[in-house]
Amino acid sequence: MSQQLDSSKIIAAMQSVLPKNELLIPLHEPVFGGNEWAYVKDCLDTGWVSSKGRYVEWFENQMTAFTGAKYAVAVVNGTAALHISLIVSGVAANDEVLLPTLTFVATANAVRYCGAVPHFIDSEEQTLGLDTAKLEDYLGRVARLEADDCINKYTGRRIKALIAMHTFGHPVDLDPLLELCKRYKLELVEDAAEALGSFYKSRHVGNFGRMSAISFNGNKIMTTGGGGVILTNEAPLAQMAKHLTTTAKLPHPWEYNHDYVGYNYRMPNLNAAVGCAQLEQLPGFLQAKRALADRYKQSFSQINGVTFLSEPGYAQSNYWLNALVLDKPDRAVRDLLLKITNDIGFMTRPCWTLLHRLPIYHDCPAMDLSMAEKLEDRIMNLPSSANLYVKEHD
Ligand SMILES: *Cc1c(COP(=O)(O)O)cnc(C)c1O
Repeated sequence: MSQQLDSSKIIAAMQSVLPKNELLIPLHEPVFGGNEWAYVKDCLDTGWVSSKGRYVEWFENQMTAFTGAKYAVAVVNGTAALHISLIVSGVAANDEVLLPTLTFVATANAVRYCGAVPHFIDSEEQTLGLDTAKLEDYLGRVARLEADDCINKYTGRRIKALIAMHTFGHPVDLDPLLELCKRYKLELVEDAAEALGSFYKSRHVGNFGRMSAISFNGNKIMTTGGGGVILTNEAPLAQMAKHLTTTAKLPHPWEYNHDYVGYNYRMPNLNAAVGCAQLEQLPGFLQAKRALADRYKQSFSQINGVTFLSEPGYAQSNYWLNALVLDKPDRAVRDLLLKITNDIGFMTRPCWTLLHRLPIYHDCPAMDLSMAEKLEDRIMNLPSSANLYVKEHD
């Protein structure tokens, strides 16, 4: 261990926050404490289990009410939400799409599903989100505007869109990013998969990109088993998203006519039923997670060599996954910390392998990624379930 970093102090800090007498504390587990059973039973009793049924619409209405977005389209998972968001944003085969290398693989996969090319950008250390200032400098060198298109001078391809991902629920600084997108004619898509319940300057994330995606996978802040939602404030885009996610079938009492190669991406009623019950508990989850993050922050505040990742001043974060950031990038120290915490039953994890390192994305265009490469060796995620705060009081 490096001199400044005392692993026993880190363990002690975690022990002071987390519940005692548990053999294993997961990184993130779902909490089902509401009407889940009743709503799912209702689906089974009435036979409405698939993609038509009142829970899907109810869920969408509650999502718009909670996020403030005008339209919500419920889909089978967050990756599908991203895929459709990109298509509706006009991303086509052989376009390039800018996205951080420090994200979950689904962000790049969705780009690939469109036949487009991921173009990786660096992150900054305050939010672990993309570095707008560095990107601005980079685009100044590699991009050229041609009519209404942004062209990569080196590959000749059109750079159509940019995906901003709100890492672990901490919002990216969106105002300067929006300005940059406008200047370079880039469509902004928000990968808000991790950020339900996070606000940028008092407005819920997912309202800034023309299209946005949220995930309800089992490990996210609330779950539908598997599920996702597309958010937008523009009616034609919402209509197209709904159309494409429901096999692009033209309305008719009995005929099967389809005007696009659509997708079977609609969220089933069963999953939406779970989601409705989860949404009723979301304010409580958010409160518990903020309280847990507060405890972590205090416990780690006196320890040299590490910083607990806190929300940026302009935002309110959902603290989906808590993260400890080592002051110095050191893979060996990070791995040792991961080992000793997991050995005593505290499930901790590193952040994702940077996407440009994966063989499947190795050949994609990329800017200098030195900060993300350092962050990769500095981040350790901590147990973050909403029930941890409550359990500690038992
Ligand atoms: C979870 C996640 C997704 C994908 O969501 P799924 O519902 O699992 O498909 C996409 N991007 C990020 C950043 C995520 O964390």
